[in-house]
Amino acid sequence: MDFPAITHHGGVHGITGSCHQLHLDDGASLLVDCGMAQGADARLDVGPGELGFGVGGVLVLVVTHVHLDHVGRIPTLFGAGFRGPILCSEPSAKLLPLVLEDAYRLEISNEPVQVQRFLALLERHIEPIPFAHWHVVIDRPGLYCAIRLQRAGHLLGSAYVECEVRRAGKSTRVVFSGDLGASGNPLLRPLEPPEWADVLVLESTYGDRLHVDRGERRQQLEALIERALRDQGAILIPAFSLGRTQELLCELEDILYRKALFERSEGAPGGEFAGWARLPVILDSPLALRITQVYRELHMYWREEARQRLVGGRDPLGFGQLVTIESHSSHQRVVNYLKSTGRPAIVIAGNGMCSGGRIVDYLKAMLGDPRHEVLFVGYQAKGTPGAVIQASRAVEDVGQVDLSGQLYQIRAKVLTLGGFSGHADQRGLLAFAQGCAAKRVLLVHGERASKQALAQVLRQELPEGSFVAVAGHGGN
Ligand SMILES: [Zn+2]
Repeated sequence: MDFPAITHHGGVHGITGSCHQLHLDDGASLLVDCGMAQGADARLDVGPGELGFGVGGVLVLVVTHVHLDHVGRIPTLFGAGFRGPILCSEPSAKLLPLVLEDAYRLEISNEPVQVQRFLALLERHIEPIPFAHWHVVIDRPGLYCAIRLQRAGHLLGSAYVECEVRRAGKSTRVVFSGDLGASGNPLLRPLEPPEWADVLVLESTYGDRLHVDRGERRQQLEALIERALRDQGAILIPAFSLGRTQELLCELEDILYRKALFERSEGAPGGEFAGWARLPVILDSPLALRITQVYRELHMYWREEARQRLVGGRDPLGFGQLVTIESHSSHQRVVNYLKSTGRPAIVIAGNGMCSGGRIVDYLKAMLGDPRHEVLFVGYQAKGTPGAVIQASRAVEDVGQVDLSGQLYQIRAKVLTLGGFSGHADQRGLLAFAQGCAAKRVLLVHGERASKQALAQVLRQELPEGSFVAVAGHGGN
């Protein structure tokens, strides 16, 4: 093996289960992410609960961000005997226990003593490091490695990782992109442009797509809500607890603020919905609520525009019209109330693909009523109830969806709003690769078609002599 060398333990064939090992020499390596393979990817790379490699010689785990497909195998990593530090950004250090507690309860054990033991172990090993500072991982004669986290703009605290390796008089910089964010997130600071790299391990989730821009997305969101509200009824938005929910809240706060200002000064023009100032935004997800709370505490990491709202006395994640629901009994009351009254409201509840969680109760109660609307803001994986509901738009007859083993008719309106992706598109990925000017680019974390499309663009656009390889599909 020529050092430094990289092996992948997931995130190769599909878009989940990211885990990369950077070998510094025969007995020393570091891991970048330790994610869980989800859905169909679990059969391609490694299954849940499987690590698939030994942890001997692994000095540290570096976490790029706290999505489960990047951190979900941490309990398994501990199970295999890893006891090194988990290096991550300050926001990731705060979010990681929340995310993993939930996953641990769902997938390993709900037994309070075990959960507490796991959380205590996790807390002892998390080591937050500031952005843009070199952190030495190993420094001994003949071998040196330091890492630096830089903002990736994908999730609060998300980072790409620069690894500086010096060995046998030669230095090499390897950059792991983690997941890179799309521009225009209303809450997050944008990605920090990269300095350079010898080797770049690059995600390619949207390597074959271009996103609509943020201005367009906001207008669309506003228009969709307005139309739905004019018809009366509630808007149900299935959303994942981490990232997407906070981004939506931030966007909705701004829309509500401007609409209320307009209503006060002008009154609602004929035909327009006149109740923006009284419209409740209901956040019904205990996990999303806890995560939102951490996002609020970490406002120093928000982008300037969002921080300015705070300075002006507004609260993008805790505004007056936001109603949060915690207990299961309040949840049931809200479902029944909205069902029986048809009172206009925006409901955000998980999970994002309608395969479980509180959104399912809303759907069961309200899908059959044409006053209501389901608004999708995220990708719906094949075979999930979300995908079935989304596809029902194209059906002439009333569609049906199976929710917990029972069929429900879909009479509610169904809409999809694009542009909410947390991932950079082809243009963003290309710009990042160009910024790195890497001699060698290795594409991971993407479906085959996205990786191939991105590889083609990179081969055309990067300077001559750059080598672009697609992990898992011929070459490493
Ligand atoms: Zn992610």
